[in-house]
This record gives sequence, structure tokens and C-alpha cells, in this order.
Amino acid sequence: MPTLLSTQSENTSRPNIPENFLELLRETWGFDSLRESQVSAISSILEGRDTLVVMPTGGGKSLCYQAPAIFRGGMTIVVSPLLALMKDQVDSLKQVGVNAIRIDSTLTASEKREAAAQIRSGAVRLLFVSPERLANPEFIRFLEGNDIHTIAIDEAHCVSQWGHDFRPEYRQLSSLRSHFPNAAMHALTATATEKVRNDIIDQLQLRTPRVLVSSFDRPNLTYRVLPQSDAAEQIREVCERHRGSGGIVYCLRRNDVEIIAEFLKKKGFSVIAYHAGMSHEERKQAQEAFINESVDVAVATVAFGMGIDRSNVRYVVHASIPKSIEHYQQETGRAGRDGLPAECVLLHSAGDVMTLKKITEGSLKEANAPEEIIASSRNQIEEMSRYCRTPVCRHRALVEYFGQSYPSDSCGACDICLGETDEIPDAKVIAQKILSCVFRVQERFGVNHVVDVLLGAKTQNVTQRGHDQLSTYGLMREHPKSQVRDWIYQLVGQGALDLDGSEYPILKLNPQSKSILFGDGQPRLIRTATKAKEKKQASTSEAATYSDSGLFEKLRVLRKRLAQEQNVPPFVVFSDSVLIEMSAYRPSTLENMLNVSGIGNAKRNSYGQAFLDTILEHCNAHSLAMDFDWKSKAGINGARSTAPTAIRSSATGTKNVTLPLLRQGRSVAEIATKAGVSPSTVHSHLVDLLSEEAVASIDPWVTTEVQQNVIAAANIVGRERLKPIFEHLNGAVGYETIRLVIAFEKQQSASAES
Ligand code: ADP
Ligand code: ZN
Repeated sequence: MPTLLSTQSENTSRPNIPENFLELLRETWGFDSLRESQVSAISSILEGRDTLVVMPTGGGKSLCYQAPAIFRGGMTIVVSPLLALMKDQVDSLKQVGVNAIRIDSTLTASEKREAAAQIRSGAVRLLFVSPERLANPEFIRFLEGNDIHTIAIDEAHCVSQWGHDFRPEYRQLSSLRSHFPNAAMHALTATATEKVRNDIIDQLQLRTPRVLVSSFDRPNLTYRVLPQSDAAEQIREVCERHRGSGGIVYCLRRNDVEIIAEFLKKKGFSVIAYHAGMSHEERKQAQEAFINESVDVAVATVAFGMGIDRSNVRYVVHASIPKSIEHYQQETGRAGRDGLPAECVLLHSAGDVMTLKKITEGSLKEANAPEEIIASSRNQIEEMSRYCRTPVCRHRALVEYFGQSYPSDSCGACDICLGETDEIPDAKVIAQKILSCVFRVQERFGVNHVVDVLLGAKTQNVTQRGHDQLSTYGLMREHPKSQVRDWIYQLVGQGALDLDGSEYPILKLNPQSKSILFGDGQPRLIRTATKAKEKKQASTSEAATYSDSGLFEKLRVLRKRLAQEQNVPPFVVFSDSVLIEMSAYRPSTLENMLNVSGIGNAKRNSYGQAFLDTILEHCNAHSLAMDFDWKSKAGINGARSTAPTAIRSSATGTKNVTLPLLRQGRSVAEIATKAGVSPSTVHSHLVDLLSEEAVASIDPWVTTEVQQNVIAAANIVGRERLKPIFEHLNGAVGYETIRLVIAFEKQQSASAES
């Protein structure tokens, strides 16, 4: 699995982080190292330069301002849009022994006085405040008397009208610059296009900021986009796959929320519903139940989520399409914040696109939004819809939307790359039928009418205009209506057909359509599955491969109890990845606890003994080894000096089992059974192996005759795409085998050249 860690910054060499900073990181958080994108952000922040950090959810943004705040002393102000987020952050910091406080409307007068006294004493390292509070002149005057060297603005996209979550109160932050002219300002966000980034810089008046944009890719998420058929059933199917884990189901309307929540309850899931029609108190309770892990599934409108910091959300389902790709990125971003695999399923339908447009425009008009904003929201929905219908790798499509490139042909973690969608072999013929129909109706009609003509419908519109006399009338009768519609949108998505018009969207041909009709243009069409064929997931963490699941469950129960005792969410005590690593390594002493990534001194002191007791008891009962060196088994060097393990994004876990067996030339079936993975995973490991090391021959897996046939076919139809080879061989040789033979051939010619 590729990780994009490129940081778009000025051309500087890898910045240096002082050794005592890393020391602080180890002692406080128990992290062995910084992630690459954190290194750039933190060194810029340590230099005291204004910085804009764009890093995907789960990338570790908060550490970027938290750790420097402690390292530098003095006080850092953190602006955060929601009370719940602030509370979680302050709780988490206190857990690791950092003096952080928040000042918000929920504090009593005496609590406020106490906070003020603490600030004046100089002991507070991080002060969390809401943007509204910073608009209060009295509060500002109070702050001005303190040593404030840094202001961090979290969720900075909220300052921009072009962003996906504009908050007017964020606009007031522009005055901070004049009140604190000597403080460095840092803006952080997970999703921002270039336009939004520039707006953030303007609005906050950042001074020649360093702009650091990490990859938008979330390699631990598996994306699937399915046409909606029976939504409730499709949703249940996803929840079923993850029974016992946390998940969020987003619905467009309140009514859908209620129906789906009820349905899932009947199917035995523990569910909360969440929408704007509920009282404040009801919503608060629902949200807390989800965060505290007393329920698994949250069925909600998109209002749910901003304050949701639960890091072990294992899936997010969109029952209908989100408002924009940025929203999608933000909402799916709530899955897998802990870096462990998670799944994102989106159900789309043309009807929902229309409804969404209507709802969005309605509310924008009500708010007197300028026409420009309304048009932009319409475009964003269109873009989202196109994403759903374009058969290209989902990871690629998302990062490209944000202006980045994706380094790999196949992500191995989306419906397209997992081969869950069927390629239509005669895509060109089908496309030609559709395009000629658009031509025959003189490029003056929308999708519905063209579908009617192609299916030979006898609607008034068709007969009155004499379109039942056209040569394309009924030309695609044998296909279901939903499929024909979907293909039309797929063509639009690929740019092979235009859909625009001021009043009604009208289908029009463009140069690409003409090259398909009359030239060598080659469209791609897929038959979309309505449910995931296989239950594949993005890569699992290395530690997960070695962790003892019985122990993990016990540690989870213990974590929940400890969290309840202190009235904090479980993830504030330890994240899932810490529990997984603990149940793989199974430390036997308090000292060894520190070998687990994510356990620093303070947490060892407060929780170490309780977890040790549980681990000891479990290991005794099951004769399990303790201090188990899973890292060297997994080929990770040095227990303490490695990069964070659970976050690494590769399938190295199972590869440790498959690769040695592949090197021995064992059969795919045998290896699949031994490693507990599917044969196609073994195949993909084999292809990876070929790209990484010299392999003498692939004879153990493919007969020489088949190898020769594939090469012969490739010599005729080319090697760029596998499909022509597949077709040339009349489907007699599977894609996996073809991929293997071509990869081997490439390796051979590369080694011949060098
Ligand atoms: P974001 O705010 O960008 O969504 P978080 O700050 O919540 O991300 O971090 C995501 C997860 O990654 C958290 O569980 C955090 O503890 C963990 N994390 C952050 N930085 C590191 C690091 N350098 N090493 C190990 N884990 C880290
Ligand atoms: Zn993909």
C-alpha cells in the first residue's frame, strides 16, 4: 500500500528536531518518533514561524501544537470550535500530565477565577478557548498581560466561506493579529483545497506562512461506492461485517435517520439516532453514549460528527451522497482515526442528488447567500456525484481532487482496485449507443429522456416528439433502467459526455464523445455491484497480527471501567492501537509497559498496574508468553526505536507469513490457508515480491505454456492494460495470473538492463 508522505513546502532539507524534544515526546506520550509530516510542521512551529498545516484526520495534528507548547514553556492559546472537542483535548492532556485548561461558557464564576489565577501564575501551557470568547475585549485585555508566544487555530477551514463548515464566529479571529503582534499563528485543518488555504491565510492574516500540506490519502480506509438498491439492507450488511465495533451511518433527512435506526435496532444492533429534531439534551446523551462506547452504531444527519473524537470508529456509511468531496473526506475521515483499518461505504442514487440540491439551495437562499455561493454548492454536489460514477481508484480520485498525485496504479483498498466492480467488455459499443442517442435527440435532452428513448419507453414526451422513430429507439432494451442511467453518468464522470445547461441539465457531446463514436476513444464502463463482494479491508496493523484477541477484549473492558470512573471517553485512557500492541507484547513489568507505543510516564503510573494485573492473569490462564518480541517477528528493528507501528500502512503483518513461503515456491492455495488470507492477497504479495527482489522463476505458480500465451498476447495487444490481454485470451487466463506474468517479465527485462 502506498503512503504519500510528501510534504509540499519550501525546498528545505529535512528539518532537525532537537534530541530533548524527542525525549519529551517519549516521556509524555510514549511515542518513539514523529511522523514525517509532523517533523516539518513542528520544526516550523518551533522556529516561531506562522504555519498552515493541512493534514488528514488521524495524521496527528494536535501533537503539532501540543508538544511545542510544552517544550517552549509559556502559554499557547488553542482556538477550537466545539466545547466537546476542547474537553476531550484537555482531558487527554491532563492524562499525560500536562497543565492544560479551557475557559468556556460552562465554567462557573469561581472556576473562571481559579483558571485566571492559574494563567497568571504562568503554570498553564495550553489554554483552550472558543472563537466567541476571543471576540470579548475584556478577555483579550486579560490575555494581553501574559506571555503568549503562540496561537493555534484548530479546524481552521471554519474561517473560510469556501470551506465545508464555515462559521461566522471564526471571522472574528482576524483581530488576533493586532492584539498579539508578537505571537506566531498556526492554522490547522484536515481538509482544504487551495482556494480555502489561501482564504485561511488572508482571513487570519498569517505572515509569510509556511504552508505544509501532507498527503490527503488515508491508506487505512477502504472505500466502496455502491448504487443504492435496498438501502436499509445494504446498510445492515455493512454493520453486520463490523458487529461489536463502532460505526456511523449518515442519512440525508431526519426521517431516514429514524427509519434506519429503528431497522438496525430490530436487527439487534445497539444504536443511537441523532438529528436536529431532537432536543439539545437528547442529542447530548446520544452523542455521549456513542463516545463512551455504550452503543456501537450512530445513525445521524451530518450535524453529528464535529465533536466526535472517538478514535476507533471502524466504518462510516453514507446512505446518500454528501454535499461535496470535502464533506466526504471530512465525514469518512471520522473512521479509523487510530490508524487501524476501517471501511467507508457510500450509497448513491440520482434521486438523492436532486433532493440534496434542492435542500442545499433552499437553505442557502433562506440564509440570503450570494448567487456565487449557491452556484458553487451546486457544482460541488455535481462533483461528488461524478466521483461516485467514475470507475477510477477511489483513493486516487480523492487525492487528485485535492490537487495531489497518487503514486500507485492500484490501492488495494477500494471497490475498483479490489475488482468488486465488473468491467464491461463491450464498453465501447455501449457508449456508442448512448452517444448516438444523444446525437439523435439533437443534444437537447437530459438523462431521463435519453434513457427512455434507449429503453424504448412509450412516454408522451417520446411519442409526441417522434423519438420512437429514431434509430436508437429501444436500442438498449435488454438492460435495466438503473444500469443505463448509471452508464450515462459514468460517461459524464469520465468527461466522455457533458451534462450542463442553465435550467435543466442537458446531455451534450464533446470532442471525447466524438472520438468514441468515430475514432479510437476507449471508454471504461463498469457494472456496479450493489454489495461488496469480498470482505477485504485495508491493511491491518502489524501488531494486530500478533495480538491475542481474548486479551484485547479484556483490556477493552478494563479501559471502559477506568474511563467511566473518571468520566472521560475510553479513547482518552488508551487508543485501540495501544490495547492491540499491549495484547501482542503482553508486558510483564511496569518498566516494560513503556515499550508499548503510546504509553508515557504519566499513563504508566496511573494505569500500568491495573493493565499488568489483567495481562498477567490472562497469560497465566492461557500459558501465553509475556514480553513477546512481536516486533522482531514482524521484522521491525529495536523495540523502542521504531516508528509507530499500528499506524504503518502496509500489509507487512501477513506478508511476514506469506513471503518466506513464496520464496520457497509453495502453492498459492497452501500459503493462503497458512496465512489465513485469501488467494488473491497471496497473489498480490507475489506481485509485490517481484517488484522488490529478484525471483528466479514463476514456474511454481504459472505453467510455462500459460506464461508464453500471455506474453504472446501482450506482444499483440500491448501491456498498458490487462483487459485487452484478458480478452485476447478469451478469458481463459485470469487477471491475477496475467498481472503476475507481466510483472515477472518486467522484472526480467529490468535485471537484463542493469
Ligand atoms: P488529528 O487531530 O490529525 O485527527 P490526532 O492528533 O487525533 O489526529 O492523532 C491521531 C492518532 O495518532 C492519535 O491516536 C495519536 O495519539 C496518534 N499519534 C499522533 N502522533 C503520533 C506519533 N508521532 N506516534 C504515534 N502515534 C501518534
Ligand atoms: Zn483503489
